[in-house]
Amino acid sequence: MPGLASTTRRRRPRRTVHADAAPLAAAAFLLSAAALIYLSLAVPGYIRRDWAAAFALTGVPCIALGALLVRRGRLGRAGMVGVVLFGDVAIVLSGYASTDRHGTTAGALLSLPTLFTGTFLPPRWLKVQIAIAAGCAWAINVLVPAELGVHVIRTAVLVVACSCPSAIVVLLRRQLDRAVVTDPLTGLLNRRGLDAAFPSAVARARRSGLPVAVLLADVDHFKLINDELGHQAGDEVLRTVAAATAAAVRAEDVAVRFGGEELAVVLVAPADQVRAAAERIRRAVEQVDALRPVTVSIGAAWAAPDLDDPDLLDTLVRLADARMYEAKRAGRNRTVLPGPGGTDVGARLGS
Ligand code: GH3
Ligand code: MG
Ligand code: MG
Repeated sequence: MPGLASTTRRRRPRRTVHADAAPLAAAAFLLSAAALIYLSLAVPGYIRRDWAAAFALTGVPCIALGALLVRRGRLGRAGMVGVVLFGDVAIVLSGYASTDRHGTTAGALLSLPTLFTGTFLPPRWLKVQIAIAAGCAWAINVLVPAELGVHVIRTAVLVVACSCPSAIVVLLRRQLDRAVVTDPLTGLLNRRGLDAAFPSAVARARRSGLPVAVLLADVDHFKLINDELGHQAGDEVLRTVAAATAAAVRAEDVAVRFGGEELAVVLVAPADQVRAAAERIRRAVEQVDALRPVTVSIGAAWAAPDLDDPDLLDTLVRLADARMYEAKRAGRNRTVLPGPGGTDVGARLGS
């Protein structure tokens, strides 16, 4: 198909923002714990004699694991959970080993595994860690005899102190994750957002037995709009076109600013509904209120729901892109889709 080779787009591999920092943070956590353990042992009378040997031994895995993490620079989900649980147990142990039973020194350290959980593990794990931290805080607090109410308050203080900073981190992570996948001009998802959302569209297609489709819409002669109205007015037109496109499709369809003046929509729907959606978008953009006419050319591609192709998004984008250029060559302000029952990726599709 003409234009195919020149319009091939490569998908960038997905990376999580937090991945590389986790092993370093875990190593810092374990090595500081080891330093605190041996510092406590070096201060005469600070660690109870009957606990000294067990306490000293706790420092060994801290150093070994910390050094290993610095060397490897990698830490999987199970490893992170292991570090957090090890931290919780070591903190309770330090509470029992220490002769300093007042001021809940050990309990204050519970903020470290909790903060690590909030920063690097999925949000639901924070709830589990807060519950574990509450148990650990209680176990440390009961070492100092007091009324039940006093235990409750002291435990609650430790739980609040360790969970609030972690909850703030979780909120900031959510905001960051959203910002990373959002296009600031149009508010639609960006390419990274498309990469993240596409697998769930494929899963929906599998569950429903419907095809997954990609529509690619490119604003016609957008350079002229910029030249005639100015770049800022061009931005405003893009915002309006994006809003019109998003309003022309269903809430579950994924509308994306694919790049420059190109938008993409991923739909899980029968071919006739995809065709209707493409036409709705084209007409909605035609009605955009700007100082000069605004139109889009749209290309589409479908894949059968049972298609197991790791490069499916790339393939669909490439096909839709080629059809969008066909629409340009045919005079613009039109849609080019496979004909009724036309063959696309994976299988023949009914219209
Ligand atoms: P065609 O119908 O063939 O698509 O013509 P065109 O003018 O739309 O295509 P061309 O690729 O020549 O120009 C696209 C223009 O879109 C050029 C670029 O400056 C403009 N553009 C890309 N991103 C933005 C943006 O965020 N804001 C504004 N105002 N312009 C943008
Ligand atoms: Mg373009
Ligand atoms: Mg264009």
